[in-house]
Amino acid sequence: DLVKDEDLDIMQDLGAGNGGTVTKVWNKKRKCIMARKLILVDAKPSVRKQILRELQIMNDCSSPYIVGYYGCFPVDVHVGIVMEYMDATSLDHIYRNTGPVPIDMVGKVAEAVLRGLMYLYDVHRIIHRDIKPSNILANTAGDIKICDFGVSGELINSIANTFVGTSTYMSPERIQGAPYTIKSDVWSLGISLIELAHGRFPFSDSADEALDFDPDPTLSASTQRPTLSNKPGNPRGGARAMSILDLLQHIVNEPAPKLGTSRRDFPSEAVEFVRGCLDKDPSIRQSPQELLKSKWIVDSQVTKDQLKAWTRQVAPSDD
Ligand code: ATP
Ligand code: MG
Repeated sequence: DLVKDEDLDIMQDLGAGNGGTVTKVWNKKRKCIMARKLILVDAKPSVRKQILRELQIMNDCSSPYIVGYYGCFPVDVHVGIVMEYMDATSLDHIYRNTGPVPIDMVGKVAEAVLRGLMYLYDVHRIIHRDIKPSNILANTAGDIKICDFGVSGELINSIANTFVGTSTYMSPERIQGAPYTIKSDVWSLGISLIELAHGRFPFSDSADEALDFDPDPTLSASTQRPTLSNKPGNPRGGARAMSILDLLQHIVNEPAPKLGTSRRDFPSEAVEFVRGCLDKDPSIRQSPQELLKSKWIVDSQVTKDQLKAWTRQVAPSDD
């Protein structure tokens, strides 16, 4: 009953990252749209078999905050993973195309990610390891879900070779060699939330602040565009982005970034929440349980209908 590659007709490219490419596909058998990720795996057959075995854990992952999984299979030099298609795309695409995410919606993103992380950890003892806006997806039913978590140790090892390194959501303790814990995911969440609310990746030269999105409310979302020549949030390109080594050093040595700029204020509960995610000392940093009890999350007034309306507004139009 699991999906096979021959069931799938390619529709369009959805994007590519360090290790993979994602395609929108039509499942001829089940008559529905799905997303297929192809990961280039540089490993011998025994290791590839091991990866496919390890990925089976995803069969047992079922949560409203985790992107659905339909199957995996070898495709020549790749491993194919078929998952639920999320029609409002990833949060990085959303903010790059429509500008900063409204702070109330950022709160709903935070809640969904925390519930997804807690599900993975409490039920499967899995630590996500790669929380960032491109691994947080939304659909026009108003759901927000996480994907691309580290289920297969062998897969992590096999793509590490091709990784060109934007490990920029990495916590200070991870940079210094401490093992992953759920608290490292909390740090990555904090960085991601600032990026969504500001409309740009928080670590870069301070002069960049002037290049922030214009918060002028008379501009419609669709006409708001980043004024930075390199893509905001892309720490790789452009003269103003830090080199990866500078960035890692900065994360370890400088104070953690904060929500809010000199040009824009956010509710104090949101600022407080993000501060709780970004304590540099992981023993003081809040846990997902604690963060879910915080005022910002508990007092949120956003309804499912409002969330749905927002995802419809930011979803790419069909062409
Ligand atoms: P990295 O490889 O560094 O983790 P990434 O997350 O951007 O970066 P991919 O995981 O290959 O790279 O995803 C590429 C793009 O495909 C994402 O940015 C996202 O917009 C899109 N995408 C991924 N999964 C889905 C999905 N299930 N539904 C819709 N779009 C998706
Ligand atoms: Mg991804």
